[in-house]
Amino acid sequence: MSDINVLTSQDVYEIIFRIFDVIKENEKYLTDLDAAIGDADHGINMTRGFKLATERLKELNPSSDVGTIFNTVGMALLETVGGAAGPLYGMWFMNMAQVVMGKSELDKKTIAEILEAGLKGVQDIGGGTQPGEKTMVDAIYPALEELKKAAEDESVSLLEALRRAAEAAEKGMKATIPMIAKRGRASYLGERSRGHQDPGATSSYLIIKTFYDYLKEKTGQS
Ligand SMILES: [Mg+2]
Repeated sequence: MSDINVLTSQDVYEIIFRIFDVIKENEKYLTDLDAAIGDADHGINMTRGFKLATERLKELNPSSDVGTIFNTVGMALLETVGGAAGPLYGMWFMNMAQVVMGKSELDKKTIAEILEAGLKGVQDIGGGTQPGEKTMVDAIYPALEELKKAAEDESVSLLEALRRAAEAAEKGMKATIPMIAKRGRASYLGERSRGHQDPGATSSYLIIKTFYDYLKEKTGQS
């Protein structure tokens, strides 16, 4: 129970379906956040993207490796999520896929490696996005920092590593509220982007948190 130290491809498969449920539940919330500083479509777009991702996963061989699962998700997001978000979320998952092609188990070190590759994809697509610019990077970057630390620490379980990552992502998401947007449509607002939580950081947090929630439930711990 407590010593689950890998996510299997079956786990990752189930996590994607759960992300779809979570995004769907938060569709209005994400769209409302985007209405304040963007074009009010983030919830709708992300729901459509993860809906197609789950449909494509249903067509996959159930014994597919983690890389194939992530790549399938990334392609679906790239195809369906409109605007700037499609390539960003698509590359996040497609870059993660490249690290784990053929793998059927992810330990915490590997999870840190895939998130690092995913973050790099997001940063590159955004034109070198850094933390503090009010984007999804503000949620993913601190989560990665926690995962890297946890990966080096033998005493930290996978569940605890994911808990710390989710907590860091949440803090990073909330830290976007007072920031001035430096990227994308929100950046046109300048000072007026202050006081609003970034929708991309929010959906990124929800995605990261779902990995933790899934494992928490599987292990029966918290
Ligand atoms: Mg939008």
